[in-house]
Amino acid sequence: MTVPFFAMNHSFSSALPLLEEGLDAFLDQSGWVNDKQVRLLEQAIEVYTGAPFAIATGNATDSLIISLMALGIGPGDEVIVPCYSFFASLSCVLHVGATPVFVDIEPGGYGLDCALVEAAITLRTKAIMPVHLFRQMVDMQALKVIAQQHRLWVIEDSAEGIGMRWDGEHAGLIGDIGVLSFFPTKTLGALGDAGMILTRDPLLASRVRQIMDNGRDAAGLAQCLGYNSRMDDVQALWLRARMLELEPDIARRAAHCAAYDEYLEPLKQWVQRPVTLARDCLQRTVNYVYLIEVPQRDALAAFLTARHIGTEAYYPLPLHLQPVCEYLDYQSGDFPVAERASTRALGLPLYPDLTPASIGLVCTAIGEFYAAQGTAQ
Ligand SMILES: *Cc1c(COP(=O)(O)O)cnc(C)c1O
Repeated sequence: MTVPFFAMNHSFSSALPLLEEGLDAFLDQSGWVNDKQVRLLEQAIEVYTGAPFAIATGNATDSLIISLMALGIGPGDEVIVPCYSFFASLSCVLHVGATPVFVDIEPGGYGLDCALVEAAITLRTKAIMPVHLFRQMVDMQALKVIAQQHRLWVIEDSAEGIGMRWDGEHAGLIGDIGVLSFFPTKTLGALGDAGMILTRDPLLASRVRQIMDNGRDAAGLAQCLGYNSRMDDVQALWLRARMLELEPDIARRAAHCAAYDEYLEPLKQWVQRPVTLARDCLQRTVNYVYLIEVPQRDALAAFLTARHIGTEAYYPLPLHLQPVCEYLDYQSGDFPVAERASTRALGLPLYPDLTPASIGLVCTAIGEFYAAQGTAQ
């Protein structure tokens, strides 16, 4: 038996009838990109998240760049980002010509450590970009206080955050602007690249609408330097069909995580399971990734690969040590929490279609690996 890191055969077949139904109407219409189906998806996301404005884009990386452009952030400006994140947290800042200023992550939570943010603020700082990683949100209450005191924009990278809520507010709507990713492996996945921008601010929303469509305004005039980052209607059609299963999928993911927790409890001497950090606010977690921390991570991953079990090391090299930002002169040792996690963190297979038998198989294999090593660390 093989357990891939990600699969969607069943999800695919359950959404297929709806896709086929919509496809007939879709093939009759003339709009293929950023058209009728995209408007319907934007409305559905506005209803689900409570966002006054949801604007569909090509992907979440573009959405971050467009958000920075809409806020007027560029050369000479600094943006505070966590050093432990997906590449986009770094590349979006570099794309607009601004300078990323890295901050370490909160132990156990993997998000920006708000206690370290103030020390990173300078006269050039324009924005803070928290990233809600894996299953829970950054402490948005603490972050908002800092942002208000220093008059900084907050751009939420909620690419992984669909369904996550902070005190009732959906991820991406607590700061000034936020993004969602519909990359196929995400909690709500398209059949290719797709993304969205959420905001409460009508002015920002109209700037975003221009930037993502070559700078064009409603009258068809180019008002600003834009981009081509639009969503395909066929992706919007698929996503709307998949949204019917979004809450059930989130529940399935939670059940799988509970099963992992139970199976891995006897291995706690080696395997550190995900924790939910105590917060002042009620938060709703969504399990996008089941991330464990283990000694000998790479040897375990190789052992599991040999057993046809897919895993993914998140993230093997923190952003401050990536070759592209060598010129910023960060050193190994600058951010100890992130650097430790980067050698120990491993994502296990997690998707709605996963079966209890597969989860048992993964955990048994992990147990066998450490039993063979003999010693605890
Ligand atoms: C997936 C992801 C992105 C990028 O999303 P794309 O839609 O693939 O561009 C950005 N940030 C985080 C935290 C992500 O997980």
